[in-house]
Amino acid sequence: MGGTKVSKSSVVTELAEIRKEVDVCTLCELHRSANNAVPGEGNPEARILLIGEAPGWHEDKQGKPFVGNSGKFLTELLASAGIAREDVFITNVVKHRPPGNRDPLPDEMMACSVYLERQIAAIDPDVIVTLGRFSMSKYFPGEKISKIHGAAKEVGGRYIVPMYHPAAALHNGALRSTIEEDFQKLPRLLAERDKQRHIDQEKSTTLNQGSLF
Ligand code: URA
Repeated sequence: MGGTKVSKSSVVTELAEIRKEVDVCTLCELHRSANNAVPGEGNPEARILLIGEAPGWHEDKQGKPFVGNSGKFLTELLASAGIAREDVFITNVVKHRPPGNRDPLPDEMMACSVYLERQIAAIDPDVIVTLGRFSMSKYFPGEKISKIHGAAKEVGGRYIVPMYHPAAALHNGALRSTIEEDFQKLPRLLAERDKQRHIDQEKSTTLNQGSLF
């Protein structure tokens, strides 16, 4: 987050290690009914990390996040903001499908949070997009998505932006245009982080030069 980035190869190694651990994870009961773990995937150097809720039927079959209809819509939303899906990293709050697509339970989210935290630490994105209320509640407890969607909050040198879940917006005309508008804000947030990084670098150069005399 504006600091020194660790090398790409160590991020790749850590993400591979997390994937390996998630694949055999038994920290909660969800692994019992799931076909595949869905650790998440994407660019290890992503500047944007998107966090959904939980794998659905298609994701459970393929072991990949957001590959069903809402995933197709998510890819379109990113493209409409000029962002390629290959450039972001996509994961979920829980990494195994809850039976019958029920909501993830608090203890399941708690157990799985160790992996999410490690993914965030390894990727160190400039922007985290929460998709839907479960990932939103991690950063905005007690808030309502209808009130705070699209409003970025700066936390520890990165932006967290709550957005509607693509599945909720896909078939609802009003929400669809809302989520489309919210995705359009992402390039500006990246530009803001670039600007801040530049200011921080200038400051540290000035400080270093000062210490030479
Ligand atoms: N919905 C989610 O929240 N995550 C997925 O991976 C797919 C659908």
